[in-house]
Amino acid sequence: MTLFDRIFGGSDYNFARTVAAIDDAIAAYGEGEAVSFPGTAYSLPCYYAVTGVKITTLGEMKAAMETIKGMVVHGNRLQNGFDAGIGSALCAEFLEALKYLRGAQPYTEPELGHLSDAFVRNLGVPLVTGDIPGVAVIIGGAEDPAETVALVKEYQSQGILVSLTGKCIQQLADAGYKTGENVRVVPLGMEMQSVIHVVSVALRAALIFGNITPGDFPALAKYTMQRVRAFVNAYKPLSDEIVSYGAGAICLGFPVVSNETENMFRVPKSLIQQLDTSKWNATSLEARDIKLKITNIDIPVAFATAFEGEIIRRGDMQVEVDGSRVDCFELVATKEAAEVEDHKIVVDGPEIDEIPVGSKISLSYTVEVAGKAMQPDFESVMERKFHSYLNCIEGVMHTGQRDMIRIRISKADFEAGFKFRHLGEVLYAKIKSEFEAVVDKCQVTIVVNPEKNKELRAAANEVFNKRDDRLKSMTDESVDQFYTCIMCQAFSPSHVCIVTPERLGLCGAVSWLDAKATNELDPTGPCQIVPKDRCIDEHLGRYEDVDEAVNKYSHGALEHVTLYSLFQDPMTSCGCFECICGVEPVSMGVVITCREHAGMTPLGMTFSEMASMTGGGVQTPGFMGHGKHFIASKKFIAAEGGPGRIVWLPKLLKDQMRERLDATALELYGVENFTDMIADETICTDDPEQLLNYLSEVGHPVLSMEPFDM
Ligand code: SF4
Ligand code: ZN
Repeated sequence: MTLFDRIFGGSDYNFARTVAAIDDAIAAYGEGEAVSFPGTAYSLPCYYAVTGVKITTLGEMKAAMETIKGMVVHGNRLQNGFDAGIGSALCAEFLEALKYLRGAQPYTEPELGHLSDAFVRNLGVPLVTGDIPGVAVIIGGAEDPAETVALVKEYQSQGILVSLTGKCIQQLADAGYKTGENVRVVPLGMEMQSVIHVVSVALRAALIFGNITPGDFPALAKYTMQRVRAFVNAYKPLSDEIVSYGAGAICLGFPVVSNETENMFRVPKSLIQQLDTSKWNATSLEARDIKLKITNIDIPVAFATAFEGEIIRRGDMQVEVDGSRVDCFELVATKEAAEVEDHKIVVDGPEIDEIPVGSKISLSYTVEVAGKAMQPDFESVMERKFHSYLNCIEGVMHTGQRDMIRIRISKADFEAGFKFRHLGEVLYAKIKSEFEAVVDKCQVTIVVNPEKNKELRAAANEVFNKRDDRLKSMTDESVDQFYTCIMCQAFSPSHVCIVTPERLGLCGAVSWLDAKATNELDPTGPCQIVPKDRCIDEHLGRYEDVDEAVNKYSHGALEHVTLYSLFQDPMTSCGCFECICGVEPVSMGVVITCREHAGMTPLGMTFSEMASMTGGGVQTPGFMGHGKHFIASKKFIAAEGGPGRIVWLPKLLKDQMRERLDATALELYGVENFTDMIADETICTDDPEQLLNYLSEVGHPVLSMEPFDM
């Protein structure tokens, strides 16, 4: 038997059982029964991406089997093997989709099954920044469960996103290993066909970020090959079914590493036999050309971006730094070189082992930096990174900022020998490596003393207030230049964000100050200066300089972009936007929803559906991705009347933005408590008439605005 026989054996097996499963489903529910995965705008995303056809009913699914039949054709050309592999994968998608009929929830934790569009979009920023350098698709499990655990841990500690299919899920669960999206170890399902859910993520990335036309298979495969750094690690024994998926994976550019010995042949960088499974990590990274960002930090526990979302429960915590009850804060301060001793870390007060377990304590840390190119403006940029730095420590959870921080250190860390001093080690190492162009020397002082912290906090608050005053005075008019950000071009090759003081990047992670700092740290990097000398239209925010910049950095894909309009050449979206707004024609307002809100909006569309209207660096007048904080900016669709146009927001977003949005509306329209005039899902979900009634009832300012000039 050759490898080809095995591929065809697997695809034939899948084809036959998919036909039977569809027939069974039709017998039970009829051909008109709706079929789709939940939380996606792409119905059956793999089939849609590969063929361009959106399947919505069982009848259409049955008809689609004819197309798949054309792929599963025996032959001895390499292409036959690839086609059969893709066909087999599409069968797997159908089989999985059938599990979700009639709103069923076929998976229970730890298995996750289908992953939503929001999951894909959440990956955008970490993938482009290299915080997730790759995606490991682990299938099956080692004979010795400890070996599987070690492999997962190795990838996780490198920040690599891990998906699990089959036996490895049980092995990790038995070992008490934490899994889930928040720690970037994602169990798909016990059945082999569930591997399709990670393929679905890769293919949607191509549609969402890459603006690949569904059905353009060569473009799709080129995108996944070049931009999605995924690879497969498959433990022996491999069934024919898995072998057929492997052929599909290789066709999409994902190398397969296995210790299988039966009927294997090797294809350099694509099909790799590695009997020594302890080398799989190194072999896979090499095959996929994955380069890791390495920061050596001297702490007794792991440090990796995979731990950023880890949650430490009350019962698991050794101590808690609780800024909501006691005096705590975090601060970066610029000093003269002579005042800073590099790598000095001081703990002023008791260490963690002198504090009773379960205590809530007062703790502050001040990071003092010195450098010839250091500017006080960078202090807040660095400070905001602390959240991510400390969260990357395994067993440590950090929330909040400034004097409202909360840090939990786990019992497991305490037992591993973790000390307060190690918080300092992490801050030191990260600041020195990420800001090396501006920081020559850095020292950290950690104070664990309520009296001292009370005084120090008051002083820190004066610094924060001064910074806020400076930020408030910083408007688009008051600065001499804007910045580009093209970080997302790794996935959206023609997308450019223009970042201004009053309009942050749509991912929410890049403010004007961040862009400025990025530019100084890396003058040839993703943030380039855009002068603003040649204004064409102040109202729309149209500048010759901006047009030139977007044209240049989109490589000619874009000619005109305005800063303040939703209709006239709106800014493009990559795919990782925090929010999306869309025009609501009945009220002549705009509806905004965000990734965290899975529910319906008055446009009759969910976040995923609205998001699928734009993205991939194209302009879609009437729809625009943007950052959360842009909502409260005076420049938010200023050309169309400003934030007073907002008629609907998810409640969660209202609560987050209330204070700032109210202040902006008061200033712009003289309206008090504007946020309360905006509808949310508790007032109406999908009925524009109901929305309009509410707006009339509360006297929403949109009612006195001109209709849109669409
Ligand atoms: Fe991507 Fe724009 Fe954010 Fe830059 S500012 S990371 S280009 S979304
Ligand atoms: Zn992006």
